[in-house]
Amino acid sequence: MARIVMKFGGTSMAGTERIRRVAQIVRRQAMNGNEVAVIVSAMAGETDRLVNFCREANALYDPAEYDVVVASGEQVTSGLLALTLQSVGCKARSWLGWQLPVRTIESHAKARIDDIDGDALIAAMRAGEIAVIPGFQGVSDDNRITTLGRGGSDTSAVAVAAAIGADRCDIYTDVDGVYTTDPRIVARARKLKAVTYEEMLELASVGAKVLQTRSVGLAMKEGVRVQVLSSFVDDDATPADEYPGTMIVSEEEMNELVEKGEMERQHVTGIAHDKNEAKIILTRVPDKPGAVAHIFDPLAKAAINVDMIIQNVGRDKGETDVTFTVPMADLARAQALLEDKRSEIGFNRIITDSHIAKISVVGVGMKSHAGVAATMFRSLADRGINIQAITTSEIKVSVMIDEDETELAVRVLHTAYGLDAMDEPAA
Ligand code: ADP
Ligand code: ASP
Ligand code: MG
Repeated sequence: MARIVMKFGGTSMAGTERIRRVAQIVRRQAMNGNEVAVIVSAMAGETDRLVNFCREANALYDPAEYDVVVASGEQVTSGLLALTLQSVGCKARSWLGWQLPVRTIESHAKARIDDIDGDALIAAMRAGEIAVIPGFQGVSDDNRITTLGRGGSDTSAVAVAAAIGADRCDIYTDVDGVYTTDPRIVARARKLKAVTYEEMLELASVGAKVLQTRSVGLAMKEGVRVQVLSSFVDDDATPADEYPGTMIVSEEEMNELVEKGEMERQHVTGIAHDKNEAKIILTRVPDKPGAVAHIFDPLAKAAINVDMIIQNVGRDKGETDVTFTVPMADLARAQALLEDKRSEIGFNRIITDSHIAKISVVGVGMKSHAGVAATMFRSLADRGINIQAITTSEIKVSVMIDEDETELAVRVLHTAYGLDAMDEPAA
């Protein structure tokens, strides 16, 4: 017998028929004698719909009221799954964020989980009841509903798993695991049997939306065993406890898998893309100490994350251009803030461009292997793809390119690093 957390994403919960399928998968785990807690997302598309209502109601919406609206999608699916489980003979009840409670800190719309009281859940699960928990939501110190940022149900699941000491956290989605790149873009993407926490964290943070970045960070910190697998399976599919999906593992476990010949060691593990950033160029900024601080201090104070930064070589007259990227959603705010500080910073023009994409290659193999970046630059150049900016970390190289070339760049790199599946293309 094991204690298992199962999380189902938006496509898995999209409508009565899908929820019935989910109920069967959950029921099977419970019938095998396991203690089960289920975390659910809103139905696919529902959160977008709710966000749009907020925008229409008030363009400058209050994040606390936004949370009240957008958290409702998960409330609906948690109740529906509990009802469906009851209809197939299971004992089940829903536990809303405030009922556990899931205590969160920091701002509305991007709250962080601080603490989850798992006692009531454990007691209910011991008594044979399936706990159904809406993902994405929590409660603030002043007793208001909060949400965890888009894709946050993954983090809810990992946090609940840590709080109740679960043996495993299975993240059910619409693909059967983590692939070498988004299988919807590259048909020859390969499913990975395992990926390290560090690599998954990096892949998620550069756009592989299969897991929310925070969920991976939390799993790494708390040592939660996470598996990504598909809910689109029939009854005779390999059961979850035989690990049909992708396991997120420590580097030591990965080394063991390589030694046993179950995984190949590659220099690049995966490739991700992100179209959600925008570029800002400030022209003719004074080329002197403190100038760059004047640009980035106000952005930092406004909690706007700056990602890639390039400062061009100084022009004549001690001036230079500074280029950087911010999340698309923060572009208007960043632009207004910089305009406000124009005289302090002393730039000439502000140019923005949201037609860009960031392509990243990730792999722990890079730590000990040179030449990964050179291969990237050469392969893109051979296809005439222009690189506008570059950043690197120990296990990642990212480039900024024109958005229209995203799919081509991902495919070219996937082939260049020898990641293409040789046999059948992935579904
Ligand atoms: P859910 O609604 O279940 O949370 P998401 O849409 O958030 O699902 O995440 C699953 C999607 O992530 C897949 O449909 C796939 O298109 C995308 N994805 C991006 N990169 C990868 C990758 N490397 N491996 C698998 N899926 C990926
Ligand atoms: N429903 C939320 C979203 O769409 C949270 C989630 O599905 O993880 O972002
Ligand atoms: Mg998701």
